[in-house]
Amino acid sequence: MKHLYSTMKARHRLQWLYASVTIIILALGWKFPILGYLVLVAITGGIISGFIAGRWFCGNLCPRGGFLERIISLYSPNKPVPLWFKSTKVRIGVIIFLFFMIGLNGSRDPLNWEHWGYVFWLICFVTTVFGAIVAFFWNARAWCCICPTGTIQSFLGGDKYHLEVDKDVCISCKKCEKACPMHLSIIQGKTKNSLPHTLFSKDCLRCSECEAICPVQTLHFEKGKLKIKENTNIETKPKN
Ligand code: SF4
Ligand code: SF4
Repeated sequence: MKHLYSTMKARHRLQWLYASVTIIILALGWKFPILGYLVLVAITGGIISGFIAGRWFCGNLCPRGGFLERIISLYSPNKPVPLWFKSTKVRIGVIIFLFFMIGLNGSRDPLNWEHWGYVFWLICFVTTVFGAIVAFFWNARAWCCICPTGTIQSFLGGDKYHLEVDKDVCISCKKCEKACPMHLSIIQGKTKNSLPHTLFSKDCLRCSECEAICPVQTLHFEKGKLKIKENTNIETKPKN
């Protein structure tokens, strides 16, 4: 799987750019509704790319993802979200609610393109404020656990391109898990009777923070089809 950047520094620099774009949209979208169409572009791009590589868009191109990781993380306690928050029921409820709100607000003036731009801006504004609030309790990417675009991507292609580990090389230091913006439990095993292996989650953003920080460079994204059976423990294992 090809990365968009050469190093994590490059990824972070790009995210500062995304954060700036997000701030401009949030600050000016109410006055210039055309900016709201950038939100639509992000949603559409995310969903289309979801077919190919799951949540890769979230980890590499999402403007709000960059904003959350680079700016909102500055005050977030960086704790995992509780399981109920990212349950399928909550996620589907959020999808239904937000699409309903888009339709309801859009129907007030359905033939006015400026009005639709305003509606997309408003949805982005409200959900970003909500994301900033939940980040205060858990972590900067807490919103991403229930973001409708991210959830749709995980449904569409979440089982493609996931992590593998070289069992003989991993030293079970768990640095990868500490670096994961989604607080996923990446490594299991390395007890007396078990070798380390990766657990994969459909919520993996394919951001490669874990790959980059691994001191023995043993993590990599497998190519092509699913090889490791999904183990939902990745969502349930508590982290310190
Ligand atoms: S950072 Fe590397 S060595 Fe450490 S637990 Fe993760 S995969 Fe294993
Ligand atoms: S598991 Fe690795 S690639 Fe996936 S979201 Fe976490 S840090 Fe990023």
